Amino acid sequence: MRAGAIVVSGGSGSRMGRPKQFLPLGGSTVAERSLACFAAMPEIEAVVLVLGADALREHGARLSRGKVKVAPAGATRMGSVISGFAALPAGLDLVAIHDGARSLVTPEVVRATLAEAAKSGAAVAAVPVKDTLKRVPKGRAIVSETPDRAEFWAAQTPQTYRCSVLKEALERFSDDADATDESQLVERCGHAVSVVPSSYENFKITTPEDLVMAEAILDARAGGPRRTTVGFGYDVHRLVAGRELWLGGIRLPHDKGLLGHSDGDAVLHAACDALLGALALGEIGIAFPPSDPKFKGLASKEIVAHTLKKAAEAGGELVHLDVTLIAEEPKLKSHYAALKESVARLFGLPPERVNLKAKSAEGLDAIGRGEAIACHAVATVLSRPGGGA
Ligand code: MG
Repeated sequence: MRAGAIVVSGGSGSRMGRPKQFLPLGGSTVAERSLACFAAMPEIEAVVLVLGADALREHGARLSRGKVKVAPAGATRMGSVISGFAALPAGLDLVAIHDGARSLVTPEVVRATLAEAAKSGAAVAAVPVKDTLKRVPKGRAIVSETPDRAEFWAAQTPQTYRCSVLKEALERFSDDADATDESQLVERCGHAVSVVPSSYENFKITTPEDLVMAEAILDARAGGPRRTTVGFGYDVHRLVAGRELWLGGIRLPHDKGLLGHSDGDAVLHAACDALLGALALGEIGIAFPPSDPKFKGLASKEIVAHTLKKAAEAGGELVHLDVTLIAEEPKLKSHYAALKESVARLFGLPPERVNLKAKSAEGLDAIGRGEAIACHAVATVLSRPGGGA
């Protein structure tokens, strides 16, 4: 059977103070996590993301790629579903409708509703109600009845239908402004709706504490929360006449430069070693051995790019760099801002996450005599114990 999906993310989200569907969640956003589940499933051949006018303007072009299209939200939930349904390709047998705010949905739950809808025509993901229910008549704060909880399930999404079943329900009740799901319209058409047991993790992210819980569940699925590790790096290069002076990825005006197989940029070398150190990935000399002639004259920016790639592959995210230069000459204070900006840009950090300082060696040793420049760096990194991103 050919299946498509509609992810409805048209709400204004007033309970969060601002539209909730693009709040950050697990390195992505609420709506994009929902979308990604359907887009990654090979059995779903088309996905329509339904967005409000502002979100459509801001994110529409970026998100419509591959099998994903975007469509404008309607004035009501049913209006949005009708808009999404119209944007799906013709000839589909099944359509799964999903709340964009149920970002923790899994392919297993989607598949279970597809399988059931293929058999019975209508399948709703749901969980048994855990709390005791009380009937409280409108306008009063007094319990009138305690119904038997065993008969109640909380309906979630996906709600998956044979396209003909959904089409009939939408045509007959399209103007129902109060309907909060499609199932009640299908029920009113006299069609049996099957309940598919889902997970309590497939909850709707509606209030700020829902986001906290969603992040915690995503962390648990990824093998535990990210932890902070720290790495240290050190480098020293001889200062000689007749070389350009490169530090932190920029060329500084001076009559001497650092001697090295590469450009001798001690700041970038120390910072890269610190980042590798925080992830227990060795040192830059392994990938760029000084003895290898092909790295002669290498720009240290390439070492940075390689190191960042290795760190990302290990699931590490650099969050802070603290760099200490030890140099007698040139005087570096006037270059702090430029050095900091360059190091931040090369390592993909905001400038406020980079600290840079220079110390003199007080004339005490070879560095103190101006024969070399040394650099210490400390990198703070977030990663998961298991190494996963
Ligand atoms: Mg070096």
